[in-house]
Amino acid sequence: MNPAAPAAARAPRASRVPSVDVVVAGGGPAGAAAALALARAGRTVLLADAGRGPAPVGEALPAAARVLLRDLGADGVLTHGHLPCLANRSAWGGPALASTDSILDPHGHGWHLDRPLFDRQLRDRARALGAQLAERTTARPLDRTPDGGWTVRLGEREPVRCRWIVDATGRRAAVATACGARRLVRDRLLAVHLTLGPTAHPADTTTTVEAAPDGWWYTAPLPAGRRLLARYTDADLPAAHRTALPAGLAATRHIGPLAAAHPWPPAAAPRRAPAHTARLDTVHGEGWTAAGDAALAFDPLSSQGILTALFTGLSAGTAVHAHLAGDPGALPGYARTVDQVRTTYLRNHRTHYAAEQRWPDRPFWQRRHTPTPQEAPA
Ligand SMILES: Cc1cc2nc3c(=O)[nH]c(=O)nc-3n(C[C@H](O)[C@H](O)[C@H](O)COP(=O)(O)OP(=O)(O)OC[C@H]3O[C@@H](n4cnc5c(N)ncnc54)[C@H](O)[C@@H]3O)c2cc1C
Repeated sequence: MNPAAPAAARAPRASRVPSVDVVVAGGGPAGAAAALALARAGRTVLLADAGRGPAPVGEALPAAARVLLRDLGADGVLTHGHLPCLANRSAWGGPALASTDSILDPHGHGWHLDRPLFDRQLRDRARALGAQLAERTTARPLDRTPDGGWTVRLGEREPVRCRWIVDATGRRAAVATACGARRLVRDRLLAVHLTLGPTAHPADTTTTVEAAPDGWWYTAPLPAGRRLLARYTDADLPAAHRTALPAGLAATRHIGPLAAAHPWPPAAAPRRAPAHTARLDTVHGEGWTAAGDAALAFDPLSSQGILTALFTGLSAGTAVHAHLAGDPGALPGYARTVDQVRTTYLRNHRTHYAAEQRWPDRPFWQRRHTPTPQEAPA
């Protein structure tokens, strides 16, 4: 966005441009949830998803998502193509694995998602409920319109006018930061991850986490017999190098044997993805509201990222609808909700990392045992 350029040079004539109430930028779980909430409330909404870059990686969906998906009118999406998750196991605070069985969860079992399929199913559900869907389309706010709305550029497509934009662009928070909001980052957590090839007889239905001197490891089965393998460490530590993955894996007690049952894909290099805790300094501004990772991004140890994206997407959609209907408290109320979610997350995050005290001299753990780590601009 370039507010300094003359409007006539940048935007097509307003009278020729089609319009909707809301453009949702980003078709991950948060954007689809926001579009579902808005469409169900009777708003005209366009959901644009850039859909470029690497496939989304998070796959563990907790059982509590059932309730949210039902509220969104999308509970049917979990019936095909995903695996049940029957237990979470972790070697954390000691070398032995402890297990939490889904039989103890009042919501039932969670899921190991086929993540690209899950995101696509949610977008299709939003379209079925009335949202316009623009796939492989990047949305960029171009200009404010005289009535306080936006002209939005939609890749190669015709631009559109709207009254409001929901920023669901993920960790980049592309719309909010272009509008002047600041992203604040709390740590340097990074994932080095790889999808392992299929095995003919996948038997494991659990998620397994193992703490290690320079971070922690994660593995879970994926649909079609594959397996996700991930190492989490800080971006500045030697363990963050892709080449350090095999030696680190060999030193694990539980993760290595699970990974060994799957073929290492030929010529596949592990990928790296930012996984730090981050937030925006404000989740709404003139003409925009942020949801999902754009508003608040979690350490994947919580396994709450997708759930929170669905929740904040639903809450943002509901709040934007109420705001456009004239409720002045709707967006401040949404900001308070996001703040409460963050406070609970930070408390749980501290408690969980404090439970692992085996490596007090290692930087990864020292940083997490510091009482109040400072936030820094991204
Ligand atoms: C390594 C790793 C492992 C994880 N594991 C888990 C897990 O097991 N369980 C869990 O719950 N969470 C996990 N997470 C977190 C989870 O993946 C995220 O919290 C979740 O994807 C956030 O959803 P979102 O819709 O906010 O953003 P995203 O899923 O990032 O979706 C954003 C979408 O916006 C699109 N986009 C970007 N810019 C634009 C634009 N300008 N216009 C249009 N579209 C745009 C992108 O293409 C993308 O499709 C993990 C994260 C990482 C990094």
